[in-house]
Amino acid sequence: MTDLMPAVFLGHGNPMNAILNNVYSDAWAAIGKELPCPKAVLSVSAHWYIPGSAVTANPAPPTIHDFGGFPKELYEVQYPAPGSPELARRVKDLLSPVPVELDESWGLDHGTWSVLTHVFPKADIPVVQISIDERQPPAFHYEMGKRLAALREEGVLVIGSGNVVHNLHAYAWGERGVQVFDWAVRFEKEVRELMLKGDDARVVAYEKLGQDAMLSVPTPDHYLPLLYILGLRRTDDPISFPVQGVDGGSVSMLGVRIG
Ligand code: ZN
Repeated sequence: MTDLMPAVFLGHGNPMNAILNNVYSDAWAAIGKELPCPKAVLSVSAHWYIPGSAVTANPAPPTIHDFGGFPKELYEVQYPAPGSPELARRVKDLLSPVPVELDESWGLDHGTWSVLTHVFPKADIPVVQISIDERQPPAFHYEMGKRLAALREEGVLVIGSGNVVHNLHAYAWGERGVQVFDWAVRFEKEVRELMLKGDDARVVAYEKLGQDAMLSVPTPDHYLPLLYILGLRRTDDPISFPVQGVDGGSVSMLGVRIG
C-alpha cells in the first residue's frame, strides 16, 4: 500500500534542540522533507504523562514551555500549529472503550514542538497531542498504538516523542565529547535489534532486559511513546533509524521510522 502513512518515534533529548542547529535538528528536518505531507499529526509526548487518557481538543493549542532554567529565547519559541477537534474525536472513538477526555487545558508541550519546529517548520499542519496514562503497564500503551492503526490510512502522521535511553541523573549537561555509558550503548543496541527482528513482545517487556534497562529507563515516560509507534507497525512495514547518536552520555537520540 503506497498511501499508508509512515509513523515515527523521535528522541527529543535536551529542549535546547528546538533552537539549535545540530545533527539531530538536521535529521529531523530531513524526515519532514521525506515524509508524505500528512493531513494532521498525532503526537504522543513523554511530557504529558498523567493519570488518564486525554487528547487536546483545542482548535488553537497553546505552546507550553514545560521546563525550568533554560535561556529566555527557548521560552520565546512559539509553535502556532492549529489543533484538530475532529482528529481528537476520531482518536477518542478509535480508543473506545478506553475513556478518553477531550482536553482544553493542555496544549503542545516541548516533547512535541521541540522536534516539530524542525520537522514541519511552517507549523501549518494541525497537531493533536495524546496523553500517556501513567497508571498503565507497557503492554497497554502498545495496544493503544494498535488501536490507532487506522489513522495511517487516513493521512495522519503519528509521532512518538521520548528517548529510548533517558537517564538525566547520569546526563552531562552542556558538555561536549563526553564518554557514552556502556549500558546506554548496549541497551539501545538491544532494543534496535529486537525491533529489526520484529520481536515487539520483548521491547514491550523491557523491564525484563536486566540492569541495562533499569539504568536506561529509570522511569517509563520517555520510553513508552516508542511502544505506540511499534503498535502501529504492520508486519510488512520496513523499519529504519533516521536519527542516531547519544547525547550527554546517557540520552539516546535514536529515531525510528516504520513504513
Ligand atoms: Zn523529554
